[in-house]
Amino acid sequence: MVFTAPSDLSGGLYFLNGKRTTVEASETFDVIEPRIGKVVAQCPKATAQIVDEYVKVASAAQPEWGETTALDRGKVLHKVADLIREHAEELAVWEVKTNGKPIYEARCDIASSADTFDFFGGIATAVLQGDSLELPGGPSQRIAYTRREPYGVIGCIGAWNYPFQTCVWKVAPALAAGNSVVYKPSPFAPASPVLLGEILTAAGVPDGVYNVIQGEGEAGIALCEHQLVAKVSFTGSVASGEAVQRQSATKNVKPVTLELGGKSELIIFDDSNVQSAVAAAMLANFLNQGQVCTNATRVFVQRGILASFTEAIVKEANEKLKVGDPLFEDTRVGANINEGHLQRILGYVESAKQEGGVVLRGGERVHPEGVEGGAYFDPAIITGLTDEAKAVREEIFGACMLILPFDTEEEVIARANNTTYGLAAGVFSGNLARGHRVAARLQAGTVFINTYNDTEVNVPFGGFKNSGHGRENCIDTLRAHTQTKAIYVNVQDTTEHCF
Ligand code: NAD
Repeated sequence: MVFTAPSDLSGGLYFLNGKRTTVEASETFDVIEPRIGKVVAQCPKATAQIVDEYVKVASAAQPEWGETTALDRGKVLHKVADLIREHAEELAVWEVKTNGKPIYEARCDIASSADTFDFFGGIATAVLQGDSLELPGGPSQRIAYTRREPYGVIGCIGAWNYPFQTCVWKVAPALAAGNSVVYKPSPFAPASPVLLGEILTAAGVPDGVYNVIQGEGEAGIALCEHQLVAKVSFTGSVASGEAVQRQSATKNVKPVTLELGGKSELIIFDDSNVQSAVAAAMLANFLNQGQVCTNATRVFVQRGILASFTEAIVKEANEKLKVGDPLFEDTRVGANINEGHLQRILGYVESAKQEGGVVLRGGERVHPEGVEGGAYFDPAIITGLTDEAKAVREEIFGACMLILPFDTEEEVIARANNTTYGLAAGVFSGNLARGHRVAARLQAGTVFINTYNDTEVNVPFGGFKNSGHGRENCIDTLRAHTQTKAIYVNVQDTTEHCF
């Protein structure tokens, strides 16, 4: 089968038995194209009965896929990577239409998605090995060995900010380990997993091994509760993650991976290279319209460089942050996901002003020519807030940088850790010893020293505290998609038991 990117969404947004399809359901949701802010399709919401049908298909297809060798599964995943690269530009354009992000960013997401399939396909044979274990009496009497076996069906649920990449981060390790998948994307960005499905089929993933359902929370609940789903992998907000963990223990007890929200910090000491810190603070706040879970909206700046940093970051933002049609090459800030989300961000700007914040630039809705209907926002840089302000405490998930002055290392570590989140953190200093010392004390799953928002497929990604548990993107992630079976072998006949 050959992959051809669709010209519209008319082929259906479900994926079953290796094909795009649709379902009959009494309720639908609007599919909105963020770039233009218009409804472009209606999608049926999966009922519990539909979820049951899809899970049963995945369950029936899994054993044969799980019994293929890791080497053979790896070969298929390398073909997936090749097909993603071959169709990178079409996929990037779809990602822009699905999410509203600038095309230059969408290209990075697609390229890294191909790498993810190569990584998990490449390591599968080496990593999915058991151990041989010596027992008392030596190998002439008894031995034990372990096998890493797939769970079965993995129920995956995704957020809307990286629709293709989030799906790939879950699906690549799940398939490499020999599991099958039922994926539920966010209703705000439902198309990307279906395109991935067509690529998987074209690469040789057997029918039924990868399936996509659609809907809101109810479909997610039915997936988490289904008895044939053996593990749940979730990306989304803390509130939904808490519910997912509870739901996944209602009918049977499932392991759950939770990739949740953040309220990260970037700490800039006064011995930093200011221009380099400015570049990192831009990356830490304004990628993907600020809709990045690891974003460091709390930018702590040591008082000695507060004035020079503030002046430089406002200048850089004014020069670089071109808001516009995300399909244009020179656009750096595209559309927010939808009107409701934009209003939420504007609400945080308003609350910041009411709590003494001073908006140094941006902070307002804009209507770029040609795409006036989308939810566009000129990124804000705000100063003058205390740590108690609502915008400083809560995840905004939008392009609002908050500059917070500090005096000492002890003080800033305590303030940085004073949050229930723990996804990421950054430290800037000309003194690397201090960089390592502070990194060790920050309560976050990823810490960046003199950089920010790097993401590599071999490096663990995930949160401390309420930002979740479990990791994506690394060797451990592949292992976490298997369960270990221990096998005892009696090598010679014996009657020496307790009875
Ligand atoms: P969300 O929690 O509203 O929705 C995420 C997904 O969960 C959607 O598919 C939604 O339909 C589904 N869902 C909602 N309630 C559910 C339930 N009870 N059971 C099962 N599924 C349910 O989050 P969102 O608005 O889509 O995404 C934004 C949030 O995701 C932010 O907090 C962001 O930080 C976080 N996020 C985290 C990561 C990470 O890797 N840590 C990555 C991206 C986004």
